[in-house]
Amino acid sequence: MDYDSIVIGGGHAGIEASLALARLGFSTLLITQNPDKIGALSCNPAIGGLSKGNLVREIDALGGEMARLIDSTMIQYRILNRSRGPAVQAPRAQADKFAYQNMARSCLENQKNLSIFMDTVTDLIIEGGAISPNAEAFTQSMLHETAGCSPSLQTAPRSSATPTHSLGRVAGVVTRRGHRITARTVILASGTFMEGKIFIGEYDAPEGRLGEEAALGLGANLRRLGFLSGRLKTGTPARIAGNSIDYSQMEKQDGEEPQPFSFGHTAGIQTRPSLPCWITYTNDRTHEIIRANIHRSPLFGGKIKGAGARYCPSIEDKVVRFPERNRHHIFIEPEGLFTNEMYMNGASSSLPEDVQRDFIHSIPGMENAVIVRPAYAVEYDYLNPIDLYPSLESKRLSGFFAAGQTNGSSGYEEAAAQGLMAGINAAMKMLKAPPLVLGRADAYIGVLVDDLTTLGTTEPYRMFTSRAEHRLML
Ligand SMILES: Cc1cc2nc3c(=O)[nH]c(=O)nc-3n(C[C@H](O)[C@H](O)[C@H](O)COP(=O)(O)OP(=O)(O)OC[C@H]3O[C@@H](n4cnc5c(N)ncnc54)[C@H](O)[C@@H]3O)c2cc1C
Repeated sequence: MDYDSIVIGGGHAGIEASLALARLGFSTLLITQNPDKIGALSCNPAIGGLSKGNLVREIDALGGEMARLIDSTMIQYRILNRSRGPAVQAPRAQADKFAYQNMARSCLENQKNLSIFMDTVTDLIIEGGAISPNAEAFTQSMLHETAGCSPSLQTAPRSSATPTHSLGRVAGVVTRRGHRITARTVILASGTFMEGKIFIGEYDAPEGRLGEEAALGLGANLRRLGFLSGRLKTGTPARIAGNSIDYSQMEKQDGEEPQPFSFGHTAGIQTRPSLPCWITYTNDRTHEIIRANIHRSPLFGGKIKGAGARYCPSIEDKVVRFPERNRHHIFIEPEGLFTNEMYMNGASSSLPEDVQRDFIHSIPGMENAVIVRPAYAVEYDYLNPIDLYPSLESKRLSGFFAAGQTNGSSGYEEAAAQGLMAGINAAMKMLKAPPLVLGRADAYIGVLVDDLTTLGTTEPYRMFTSRAEHRLML
């Protein structure tokens, strides 16, 4: 074998998975489409929040990297829900997104036993086992689906009857440039890139994030093998030139004295300046513009088939679903110390760019806003996690693990937590040791993995305190 393990994808799941494997002594190759994008914060560059802050501290307690990365790169720290009781308060930090990425990459580059390789994985090398008897039927159903004959999501039964490791065992990967690289275990952490497609009004393109090529081929090959796959969707708001915003019309929200997420750091960690966020609101005019153009939305027009997150609606979703509301919060948040770009939290959209410009200009303080990057939606392939054991190993294919957005979750912390567990458990498998499975009363990570692997998901899964019945103990 060329390596003990291959990790596909240098996002938040892939970072933790590769570090866990390498730190446990296994030779690991991280294959990612673009090493410059390792640790990219695709959406809001913020880490933490309710239950997500707990995930970050659990990752830290298990030896993961996320808490240290955010401690070293935060540019604003706040305790959310300060005015409410302690049970619902949570730490949240805004990162300098470039510093976060640089630090994540440098951490991987300096890790013993870990190499990084720029390429796109398009297929798996498999040994032994027969192709799943369901594969042919499944492929037929996907073909019908593609032709618009059935709903976009391939839903799984509550308990999967997949025969154990019917496909045999994974033995490596094939890449777009034709490399065949062998390994004993493979972890897939493809995020929003597997057969990704972005949408801005009438425009669409095969990309996993705006301006970044989708990873094409692997999703189709996994379907051919009979993996339970489906389409999900998420979205992001426009980024605005900070010097085109009139902050005098907005409420200022200063940060607080930063506290570390990592148990290894002491208080007073922050060496970089703390930047303020700003609050403004949509109004009747904003909502009129959106309603008048709703037919041009790929979401409402039916172009986007994948299910989106109910808890993280786009601005057009909010306007349509809550017609009685005459305003919605918009938080204007900095993306870094050395960029002029500001993130418009609360205004995610896939409306055409001319409509985006008009509704943004109707918001107080944004009358002359210059859009640097438009809002967009992205639709991508995921693998239904009901097909995984609680170790995050595939029930179909021995040695093949999946983590992060690939498993239908959404969020950096959820991805990192799964990446860490998949990395640890791939290592446990190679050590022939029992997997590390955390219970629902032990950790939010236990709740996350248990929910995903016993219930599966048909919409982007995000952690909430309400999902954890033992939350007062966690
Ligand atoms: C537009 C957008 C909006 C989002 N909105 C939200 C939100 O509102 N709230 C929220 O919590 N989260 C949101 N997210 C999700 C958040 O970004 C992800 O949950 C998180 O980044 C997932 O981490 P990951 O490691 O699973 O994947 P990613 O961070 O997506 O990283 C995947 C990496 O794998 C690489 N890769 C993929 N396939 C291959 C392959 N075959 N070969 C080699 N490399 C490959 C990619 O290039 C990429 O670097 C959004 C993401 C996007 C793109």
